[in-house]
Amino acid sequence: MARCTFIILLMLLACARALAVGCAPHGVQVQVLGSGGPIADDARASSGYLLWVDGRARVLVDVGGGSFLRFGEAGARIEDLDLIALTHLHADHAADLPTLVKSGYFSDRTRPLSLSGPAAGADFPGLADFLSALFGAEHGAFRYLSGALDGSAGLFRLQAIELATDKSRPQRLASVDGLKIDAIGVSHGPVPALAYRITVRGLRFVFGGDQNGRDPAFWRMAKSANLLVMGLPIPEDADPVARRLHATPSLIAAGAAGAGVRQLLLSHLMARSLSGLPQHLALIQHSYPGLVRVAQDLGCYAGQ
Ligand SMILES: [Zn+2]
Repeated sequence: MARCTFIILLMLLACARALAVGCAPHGVQVQVLGSGGPIADDARASSGYLLWVDGRARVLVDVGGGSFLRFGEAGARIEDLDLIALTHLHADHAADLPTLVKSGYFSDRTRPLSLSGPAAGADFPGLADFLSALFGAEHGAFRYLSGALDGSAGLFRLQAIELATDKSRPQRLASVDGLKIDAIGVSHGPVPALAYRITVRGLRFVFGGDQNGRDPAFWRMAKSANLLVMGLPIPEDADPVARRLHATPSLIAAGAAGAGVRQLLLSHLMARSLSGLPQHLALIQHSYPGLVRVAQDLGCYAGQ
C-alpha cells in the first residue's frame, strides 16, 4: 500500500513538472506571465514578468490579475524571489499580490521579500499605505494575512521599498547577488509610475511599465538595452486621454531607435491594439531597426 502511494506521488510530481513551462535552466531570460491589459477581452493575463537566472525566478515585475496563475504554470518558486517590483498601483499591475502572499504561506520561505513600488500621488496611495490597506492588522482588507507586514503567523515579511517617482534620473534600488536594479519615474497620466532596469551578467533588461513614452531620462536609462518590454495598448490615432497614459507605436519606435535598444518586446496588449497589430508593427519597424517581438503569456525571451 505504502509502495503504491509512493509511486502515485512520483507520478503526480512528474505530471506537475511536465505542466510547468519555465524558461531554460541556464542563462538569463524574461518570462512573460501576463501580456494583456485591464480589459477582459484579450485572452491574456494582466501584467507580470519574471526574470530567470540559471533556472531561478529572481525578480517579479508587476503582479496583475492572472499572473498568480501563470506564476504557478511557469514553475516559479516564491522561495527564489529576491524582489517584487511594482511599476504602479493600477489593478492590472498589482491585484494578484494578496494571492501570491497567501500562496507564500504554504512555501518554505522565511526570509523577508523586498517589494518596491511608487510613493503616493494623485488618487493613489504610496506603497506603504497600499500594503496597510491590504494587510493592516486592524483595518486591512486581508487582515488575516497581517503577518506579511511583520513576519508573524507563518508568513514571510514584505519589506516595502517606496520609491519617489523622480523622472530626471534613475535611482539604484538594489544590488543583490549579481543583479543591479535601478528605477526611474515615468509619465502615466496622473498615476505615480516607475520603470525598472535590471542589469545582470552585462545584459540590460528594461521594463517600461505603463507610460506615454515622452520622458527623455527613461530613454537614457534604456540605452543599449538588450531587451526592452514596452506596452502597446493603444493605436497611433488614440484619443488625447489615452496618449497621456500610453505611448503610441511611433513614439515607442522613435524612443527605442534613439536609445539603441537591441530588442523590443511589445506587451500590455488589448483587443483595441491587437486588432491593428500588423499596422502597428509596420509602423514600428519602419523607424526602429532592432528585433521586435510580440509578447505571449509564458513566452521566454533572452537578451540580444
Ligand atoms: Zn496603468
